[in-house]
Amino acid sequence: MNSFFRKLPLSIKLMLIGLIPLLFLIYLSAQLYSEKKQTVKLIGDYILHVHEEGNISNLIYELEKERKVSYEYALRKDNYSKVIFQRPHTDKAMQLLEKSKDLAIVNFPRYTFLDSLSSVRNSLDNSPFYRADAIMQFYTNAIYRLNTLNPVSSMSSTYLEPVYKDLLSQKTLFEMITFLSIIRTNIYNVLYTGKYKVETLLGTLGVFNIFKSYEKEFLLKGSPSSINLYNTEKDTSSLKPVLAYIDKLFATFNFDSTYDAKDWWEVSSQGVHILRKQQLNLWQNVETGIDKIYQQQIKSKNKTLAFLIAAIIFVITFVIYTITVISEMLSELKIAAQKISVGGTGLKFQNMPKDVMGSLTDSILEIDKNNIELAYAANAIGAGNFNVPVNPRSNEDLLGNSIQKMKEDLHKLTMEKDKIQQETLELMDRKDDFLSIASHELKTPVTSLKAYTQLLQMEAKANTNERNELMLSKMDLQVDKLTALISDLLDTSKMQNGKLIYNKQFFPLNHLVEEIVEEIRIHASKHKIIIENNTPVQLYGDKERIGQVLSNILSNAVKYCKDCEKIIVNLKQVGKGAICSVQDFGDGINETQKDKIFERFYRVTGNDLHTYPGLGIGLFISKEIIERHDGKIWFESEVGKGTTFYFSIPVAETQINNPE
Ligand code: ADP
Repeated sequence: MNSFFRKLPLSIKLMLIGLIPLLFLIYLSAQLYSEKKQTVKLIGDYILHVHEEGNISNLIYELEKERKVSYEYALRKDNYSKVIFQRPHTDKAMQLLEKSKDLAIVNFPRYTFLDSLSSVRNSLDNSPFYRADAIMQFYTNAIYRLNTLNPVSSMSSTYLEPVYKDLLSQKTLFEMITFLSIIRTNIYNVLYTGKYKVETLLGTLGVFNIFKSYEKEFLLKGSPSSINLYNTEKDTSSLKPVLAYIDKLFATFNFDSTYDAKDWWEVSSQGVHILRKQQLNLWQNVETGIDKIYQQQIKSKNKTLAFLIAAIIFVITFVIYTITVISEMLSELKIAAQKISVGGTGLKFQNMPKDVMGSLTDSILEIDKNNIELAYAANAIGAGNFNVPVNPRSNEDLLGNSIQKMKEDLHKLTMEKDKIQQETLELMDRKDDFLSIASHELKTPVTSLKAYTQLLQMEAKANTNERNELMLSKMDLQVDKLTALISDLLDTSKMQNGKLIYNKQFFPLNHLVEEIVEEIRIHASKHKIIIENNTPVQLYGDKERIGQVLSNILSNAVKYCKDCEKIIVNLKQVGKGAICSVQDFGDGINETQKDKIFERFYRVTGNDLHTYPGLGIGLFISKEIIERHDGKIWFESEVGKGTTFYFSIPVAETQINNPE
């Protein structure tokens, strides 16, 4: 399970983290909403109950009226029209109540004996001996039973608190009206018949006590306004004589002549009417109040629903936003890590938090910073700056410690190299000094050697000593070679010190080519030196030195191509430059030697090194001379096929008369 969770992609993990509280929130929301819905339903039901109570009260009212007229008709058989007039009203009230779906009311006719109403009416209409007290009993029972059906419980509920007292007041008043009706009807019966006075009062005493206890309850628990109104009406309105008469009757058990039946019915009707009016007002108040609460609860339910939907949307949005932001930050870190892994630097992060991710960012930046510092240090060390600080981060810092070690080793090596270089330079200087002195010192005796050789040569010629003359002429040639060597050595040391002087003048290069070729031909009888092309070109330069270059490459061609039949010399003008070339058909020069043969004292090493005499300075001097004339010297060669040396020099800009 653990490994499965670890392998899940981060976005899925984050989704799960967001999903759990979200599910919890949805569950809580559903609970809260269903609670609200239930409350709304309860109040809705309650409103229905209150409506039903109105219908019950209405039916009781109509039944009371029907009781009175039916009783009177049963006793005296007059005013039948009143009975006929009243019955449809009663029926209408009953039908209204029969429609109720309230479980407490369904089938009420059976419970209240009203299912026998039509047979009672029939008996009254058709049987001349049907007893009035049976009529009274039937209706009174029905009214009493109906009263007990009152479906509105006075239960206390937080939601109903604003109407609770009014609800209780109207319910108690309802009871009082019912019991007062029974009392006044019984009194009316006595007054109407003049019979069973004490018995009736004794029989009604229990009802009177119930009425009194309800009155007490009303005065204790009712709403202050309804109590005030009741007290006022009890003292001032037509309720006052009714209640006073009843109190007196049940105190004395003696009927006086204050009321006859008719008067009593009228007076007591007014009294009951006043109470009924108050009860109806209260009932309406309750109905309006509960309706208001109901509307408020519906509003609150809808508000709750809207709030919950908004909260869920907010949570989902926030979760998605959080996942996106975290993914973005992680991807920034990934890119940075990838950049570092391929050696990149210069990382930048924006708005990173101060948590694990922040520490990771700091670590990556630290790596980047260290990499830059180490790279800078390595660069500086490479450039020879050994003062640059290298600060390994710890003993485990492989890179830092290696660079530190490299710095130390390199420093040591560089110091040794500098020392050797210094010694080499000193040696070179000494060697140059030696060469300079040696060639200088050699030049004087060689010059006098030349002079004496020539003197002896002249004497041999005069004495016609041919053998001596031949030997002396060979000696003279060797002295010339020696002079040339010494002169070359002297030139290199002058070049080294920048002391070689160039005597520049205008001259035709083609003439110089002819002169030098002639000179070389004397000593290279075996080779056929061909001037293939000799374009007339004017140069401004040191004629002698340029002649030295040509002589050098031409004598090299002869020297390094012993068995060659021909050597081709070429002079032409290309653009503003004169290009002179000497081509031989010898062994050629290996590619690896290409850059080296122009170096001082460089000679191609090989088995036949001593076959070809030389010091390895001819090409060095030639290159120096050509470059001092803003020219270039180079060669093309193919091993086994031969070599062509070229040099180019800009032609003179000012034209001079060609002596030709
Ligand atoms: P030196 O001829 O005295 O050795 P140079 O400086 O004139 O010195 O020449 C340098 C080297 O270049 C020579 O030792 C030789 O190996 C090579 N070289 C020069 N010219 C030729 C040529 N025409 N063919 C083959 N090798 C040549």
